[in-house]
Amino acid sequence: MELLNSLYPVLPQDVNCPTHPVSAMDYMPVEQLRALQLHRLKWTVEYAFERVPLFRKRCDERGVRPEHIKTLADIKLLPFSKKIDLRDEYPMGLRGAPMDEIVRFHCSSGTTGKPICIPNTLGDVAVWQNGAMRCLAMYGIRAGDVLQVSYGYGLFTGGLGLHYGGEGMGCAVLPTGGGNTERQVMLMRDLGVNAIACTPSYFLRIMDEARRQGVDFRRDTKLRHGIFGAEPWTTEMRDTIERETGIVAHDIYGLTEIAGPGVAGDCQHRTGLHIWEDHFYPEIIDPETLEPLPDGEVGELVFTTISRTGTPMIRYRTRDLTRLHTEKCACGRTMRVMDRISARSDDMLIIHGVNVFPGQIEAGLLRVPEVAPHYQIILSSTDTLDLFEIKVEVNADAFSDSVRKMEDLRKRVFDAVKSIIGLSAKIILVEPGSLPRSEGKIKRVIDNRRK
Ligand SMILES: [Zn+2]
Repeated sequence: MELLNSLYPVLPQDVNCPTHPVSAMDYMPVEQLRALQLHRLKWTVEYAFERVPLFRKRCDERGVRPEHIKTLADIKLLPFSKKIDLRDEYPMGLRGAPMDEIVRFHCSSGTTGKPICIPNTLGDVAVWQNGAMRCLAMYGIRAGDVLQVSYGYGLFTGGLGLHYGGEGMGCAVLPTGGGNTERQVMLMRDLGVNAIACTPSYFLRIMDEARRQGVDFRRDTKLRHGIFGAEPWTTEMRDTIERETGIVAHDIYGLTEIAGPGVAGDCQHRTGLHIWEDHFYPEIIDPETLEPLPDGEVGELVFTTISRTGTPMIRYRTRDLTRLHTEKCACGRTMRVMDRISARSDDMLIIHGVNVFPGQIEAGLLRVPEVAPHYQIILSSTDTLDLFEIKVEVNADAFSDSVRKMEDLRKRVFDAVKSIIGLSAKIILVEPGSLPRSEGKIKRVIDNRRK
């Protein structure tokens, strides 16, 4: 917390806060925000230069020193960091603060081999909690609300991130974690839960279970808010969830390397997600040339943490594709807005030579109201060709023994997907409840093609 205090000399004194006291920073005048960001950026670069050997080595190679950072635009002089650095420097090579200041580790699985490990100080936890609280405040969640945290607890940041955010807001937190879905639905009803935080795919599983128990969200529960993140999801998925349950589905963004959930969230205008850029400084770069792109252009999202010390991350390449908006949001917040992230560059599939994101397939499927938001994309190959199949569940009330009806539905799903991705997939309609469900992050793509 000492760091935070030392970083606040330019904190605005008279910020008008129309929503909730914790949101004061959200409305900070832009010039003051830029001054604060520059102040914190300089501080962080100096801090990391002194304490993180890899960062110092890369700066030396480029002939860059902390005093070269005179404006925010000078950030482009600094070297990037990537997930592979965290893996190469496993477990704690990128740690900035001394061990006696570290209070918690979080880890996230790499795609292969060793996980990545992020040491956090008490100040880091406070910054993260601040981001999560500001998201909750923005969603309209208040003291007195009951918040069910159904994200996994543990090394994964989802559970504890929303847990601390909820407690900070004065909510009554119900830390169910993931799994035991039957009990989740029972507790939701019995304790009058108002808000739930989990992956969108786990909420689909909860919706299934509620249906099985005869629980109607509108009639039998007080659930009004869903806080969904940790996996890409489409606007079509949000519409489906809201239509079927009557809740408001909010979007939350974050990543372990930068903090956890609560780096950004959407406001009621739903133009995208406000980034808490007083802590997490965003850039958009061209992923090929690595040059910064102006606001408004789509590219790879890069973050620099400017108020964290356990693992200060400088120009961290997220692999997420988005853009920063140029226009100010109608809610009055000055923190920049980025587009919702429904595609990660790592998730891109190349099918028959065409680039396809799973979210595009999801959007196509959900345009057909008779199918459920449960699907699986299966890619396989024979000696001569690649096979592209999509299994999708039919809604219980639309499922029929009539071959003609099912064939008509199959054709409509085929057309809906083809109209978006331009490719012909083999559509396989399956019975309600027959595809795997998830208790955390779901795996919807099965790629058995020869590499
Ligand atoms: Zn807004």
